[in-house]
Amino acid sequence: MEKVDMVADIILKSRTIVVFTGAGHSTESGISDFRSPGGIWSRFDPSEFTFQKFMASEEGREKYWQFSSASWPEMAAAQPNLGHHTIAELHRMGRLDCVITQNIDGLHQKSGIPDEKVIELHGTAHWVDCLECHRRYPREEIHRRFEAGDKVPRCEACGGIMKPATVSFGQAMPVAETAEAERRSAACDLFLVAGSSLVVYPAAQMPLIAHGKGAKLVIVNMEPTPHDHYADVVIHGKTGEVLPQILAQVKAKPD
Ligand code: NAD
Repeated sequence: MEKVDMVADIILKSRTIVVFTGAGHSTESGISDFRSPGGIWSRFDPSEFTFQKFMASEEGREKYWQFSSASWPEMAAAQPNLGHHTIAELHRMGRLDCVITQNIDGLHQKSGIPDEKVIELHGTAHWVDCLECHRRYPREEIHRRFEAGDKVPRCEACGGIMKPATVSFGQAMPVAETAEAERRSAACDLFLVAGSSLVVYPAAQMPLIAHGKGAKLVIVNMEPTPHDHYADVVIHGKTGEVLPQILAQVKAKPD
């Protein structure tokens, strides 16, 4: 049996499906991932953008805002690709428990999946948080200030340090989202990974939690991942091509 067919069968037999996405899922929307050739880490040094460096000095914050603001217009304009639309279709068919995503681009919500079904493990680039009074600002508003010359924006309410609402290296994971992702991973009967290198922890723990509790594990990624040997099916390919093929098979089979 073809691998795509095998996954379609697993989907039809599953009642609780969790989809887990990483940066690879959004490359077909024109957003670079971190680790592919030409990805963000081939152009920037990750050790420059840790949370510790951000907090340590005004210079560290200025560098961070430059780095983050350079990619924001592209991210804000990006549109969901066929992979996102396929997951949204699974949701409309009543087959999706939730999406756990490492992505900060908001493209699952843009594809029509409601906020409450998207667990953003690494936060979102669409908001900026004051780290002191916790006031939240729309990213567009702060980006306009940055463009106008405010290179290290401060909170209007309290003057506190502000940071895009994403989780940087060295920054604590969001407690509620991490706990919810662990709970959903443990309770699903199919855990489908789409476009993640599965090397960033604790996110990469989620497929192992699901597998450990007896869920089927399917991995769709361009390259091998360290978790491939746990998976029931591994497909090396583009998520924007493979996921629609799987969905077509699901629809072609009698329920
Ligand atoms: P990663 O960059 O480590 O790995 C991406 C993986 O996706 C690679 O293994 C690559 O081979 C694969 N890939 C690339 N294009 C693909 C495609 N079209 N189809 C299938 N596979 C494809 O990304 P990661 O594992 O998600 O983790 C790194 C971190 O990157 C996360 O913390 C995330 O927050 C952050 N990130 C997010 C975005 C975004 O929001 N779109 C973009 C860059 C980085």
